Amino acid sequence: MATPQTSASLFSPDVLFDNPVFAGGIGLASIGAAAAFARRGAIVAFGAARRRLLVNVEISKQDPAYPWILAWLSQPREAAGFIASRITRIHNLSVTTTTTHTKGPYAEGPVNASFFLQPGYGRHVVKFGNAYIAVSREKHSTANMNTGEPHEIVQLTTLWAYRHTFEGIFAEAHRLAAKANEGKTVVYSARGMEWAPLGDPRKKRPLGSVILDDGVKESIVADVKDFLSRQGWYVDRGIPYRRGYLLYGPPGSGKSSFIQALAGELDFGVATINLSEMGMTDDKLAYLLTKLPKRCLLLLEDADAAFVNRRQRDADGYSGASVTFSGLLNALDGVAAGEERIAFLTTNHIERLDPALIRPGRVDMMLRIGEATKYQAGQMWDRFYGDEDNSGSRKEHFLRRLDELGLFGTNPDGTPSNRRTSTAAIQGLFLFNKSNMQGAIDMAQGLIPRNFEE
Ligand code: ADP
Repeated sequence: MATPQTSASLFSPDVLFDNPVFAGGIGLASIGAAAAFARRGAIVAFGAARRRLLVNVEISKQDPAYPWILAWLSQPREAAGFIASRITRIHNLSVTTTTTHTKGPYAEGPVNASFFLQPGYGRHVVKFGNAYIAVSREKHSTANMNTGEPHEIVQLTTLWAYRHTFEGIFAEAHRLAAKANEGKTVVYSARGMEWAPLGDPRKKRPLGSVILDDGVKESIVADVKDFLSRQGWYVDRGIPYRRGYLLYGPPGSGKSSFIQALAGELDFGVATINLSEMGMTDDKLAYLLTKLPKRCLLLLEDADAAFVNRRQRDADGYSGASVTFSGLLNALDGVAAGEERIAFLTTNHIERLDPALIRPGRVDMMLRIGEATKYQAGQMWDRFYGDEDNSGSRKEHFLRRLDELGLFGTNPDGTPSNRRTSTAAIQGLFLFNKSNMQGAIDMAQGLIPRNFEE
C-alpha cells in the first residue's frame, strides 16, 4: 500500500534530482555555464598571453615620427616566397598630393604636383629583419582641438621577443626622412594651432643666388653664425638665447629669398607666420612661438600688421588678423621652446613699426633691403650673362642705360631721382631675355615702375 507523501518529502532535493526533466535542465545549464566560463577564461588567458607575448608601440599624428613611419611603411620591400610577399607588401595605399606654385618675379608661376603614397587606414603586416610587425593605422572620430583634424594613430605590434626591432625601425625611418630632406629646406606654416610642413621640402636656395647690396648679406650671415656659436655665453649669463633681425624695404627686393637661402646655408628650416593672415590672434601667435619646430628660422612676415589700428587695417584690406602690438611683444618675449631662436621680421612699412620692438632678443639688427643698386644690377648681370659677356662691355652698357634712366637715384643732370626699380624686376627682365643681352639692354626702359609719377 502506498504511503501518502508528506509536503516535506514532496520538496526534498532527492525528488527534484530524481525528476529527469529537472536533472536534464541542470545538466544543460551547467554545460552552458562551464562553456561561458571557459570562454571568459580563454579571453582572459588570451589577453594575458597577448600582453605577455606581444608588444605595441603607438605613434600619434602629432608626433614628428608619424610621417617618417608612414614613409618607411610605404617603402617597397622584398620578401622571400609568395605568401610572405603577399603579407609584407602593403596593398592598401592612400595618396597625399601637394601642389605648389613656383613663384615668378611678377606673378605665381605654373603648378607642380607631387604625390606621397602611404599605407591606407586598416591593418597591414610588414616584415623587418626576422620580425613580422602588425601595423594598424586608425582614424578616430574625435578631433584634435588644435587643428580641427581627426585624431590619427599608427600602432605597431610584434612579439615580445622582437621588441628591440622597434628601435631599428625608428632609426631607419629617421634616416630615410633625413635622407629625403638632404639638400632641402623644410618650410613650416601654422595649421590651426600647430606647425605643419608647407608642401614638400624645397631644394636649398644657394646664398649666392640672392644678391643684396654690397656687404649686407655677409654682415647678416656673419652675425647669425656668431650667435649660433655663443650658446654657452648666453646660458652662463642667464640670458634668453635669442636673436632678432628686422628686414624692411619694398616688395620684390629679396627679403624672403634671402631668409630661405640663409636657412639652407645653416641647414635650418623656416617656420613662417604672416601676421596679417586671417585668424591670427595674440594667443595663437604666443602659443605657436612656444612650440617652434627645432632648428628653424622664425619668419614673421608683415610685422607692421600688428601696428595698424583696426580702421586703417580695414582700409588696407587686412582680412581678419588681430595681432596687437602688445601681443607681438609678449609672443617675442614669451617662454622659449628651449633651444635657440632666430627670428626674422619683415615689413614693407618701416614707418609703422614701434621703436619698442628694437630691444635685444626682439630685434637686434635692422637692415633695409631696398631697391636695386648699381652693385646689385651688375652682380645680377654677371649671374645671368657672365659666361657670354667675357669682356664685361655689355654689362657696362646695361648699367649706363639704367643710370641714364635715373634708376640708381641720380638723373643724368645730377639731380636726385626717385625712379627706382626692384631686383625682382631686373630678374624678370633677364628671365625674359635669356641669352639675349642686347634684348635686356633694349628693354631696360620697362624697369621703370608702371605706377611711377614724375
Ligand atoms: P620680398 O620678400 O622682398 O618681397 P622676394 O624674396 O619674395 O622679395 O623676391 C621675389 C622674387 O624676386 C623671387 O623670385 C626672387 O628670386 C627674386 N628676387 C628679388 N630680389 C632678389 C635679389 N636681391 N636677389 C635675387 N633674386 C631676387
